Amino acid sequence: MSRRPLPADREVAPATRLIHEAEARSGFGEMSEALYLTSGFSYDTMEAAEARFDGRDPGFIYSRFSNPTVSTFERRMIALEGAEAGRATASGMAAVTAAMLCQLNAGDHVVAAKALFGSCRYVVEDLCPRFGIACTLVDGADLAQWRAALRPTTKVLFLESPTNPTLQVYDIAAIAEIAHEAGARLVVDNVFATPILQQPLTLGADIVVYSATKHIDGQGRVLGGVVLGSEKFVMDHLHTFLRQTGPSMSPFNAWTLAKGLETLALRVERAQANAGRIADFLAAHPKIAKLTYCGRADHPQADLVRKQMKGGGTLVAFEIDGGKEAAFRFGNALEIVKISNNLGDAKSILTHPATTTHQRLSPEARAELGISDAMLRLSVGLEDAGDLIADLEAALDAA
Ligand SMILES: *Cc1c(COP(=O)(O)O)cnc(C)c1O
Repeated sequence: MSRRPLPADREVAPATRLIHEAEARSGFGEMSEALYLTSGFSYDTMEAAEARFDGRDPGFIYSRFSNPTVSTFERRMIALEGAEAGRATASGMAAVTAAMLCQLNAGDHVVAAKALFGSCRYVVEDLCPRFGIACTLVDGADLAQWRAALRPTTKVLFLESPTNPTLQVYDIAAIAEIAHEAGARLVVDNVFATPILQQPLTLGADIVVYSATKHIDGQGRVLGGVVLGSEKFVMDHLHTFLRQTGPSMSPFNAWTLAKGLETLALRVERAQANAGRIADFLAAHPKIAKLTYCGRADHPQADLVRKQMKGGGTLVAFEIDGGKEAAFRFGNALEIVKISNNLGDAKSILTHPATTTHQRLSPEARAELGISDAMLRLSVGLEDAGDLIADLEAALDAA
């Protein structure tokens, strides 16, 4: 195999790194990275197999542990995030579950923001306690609640920012400081911001997790996840957990996601520009009761957005006059925007959180998070902004 990687010490912008990082070429010199769709690897001799297993030869052994295509994706993510190390997983939820369980023991305590992606709440609220790991949920915007929840056994603080679906923003630097004073680590689910718009490690977080299924693929094709952090965290906790429990990323998915990274910055910038125009259009529309977009000056935490994010992102949340009935009439009248629960796709997507992604929560829990029956989440895609606004305007007339 010939390799002509971008020199590691060459200073280039993320957009350049994403396209050239970790090029692994086969003998054919192909332009697009080869796809090593293989479960295992063979050895020339018995001695070579022995050396691979005892670590003298660092080559590949089995794709549950590592694979050249998965490694290309991991190295691009590590470069983009500015992390020391990282590992890919089969899905975003595999990344979250592994990031938590690999470092927690019975008797430990987790503090998490209430406003978490539904399955992330299951992990901290239902799964962890079954193994003797206690969990306290707090209002992530209230630093006093984070502090008050700490116990001597607190090992992990966990949040996502901006939150799903209400687009609240939490002070990552301040919460990282609270975690570190307590000797705990801060884990940030950075899906909504994307690695282009927010870098939690730079803000003080210890571990970043992604569902690569979202913007990183960005075309609705494959599932994937990634956990990024220090070399020490990965080697002391994550590496063995993943290797022995097996939530591994498929090489096919890694190839798709590595190609997705080549256009990530371009796609996020375009979707964000569309989202900004759509947010302004919706905010001015008489049938919209409330609108939240991180890129608008009227966002409740606009100062914090400016401090920790490079832009407003690709998601818009809004409430429509007339409750659930009007929200459903609006969704059913859309012709370009699709009804789905995914996000970060080239195609614009509308979600009604109360009846889909957050259906599992009690009405009281939804109310506490600000998820009303009138609330809709729009993941803005790459279509022409004028076409999207025309689609939304016609559907609002029909609502
Ligand atoms: C989608 C998502 C996840 C889970 O990712 P999967 O790839 O679907 O397993 C976790 N957190 C957030 C914020 C998400 O949007």
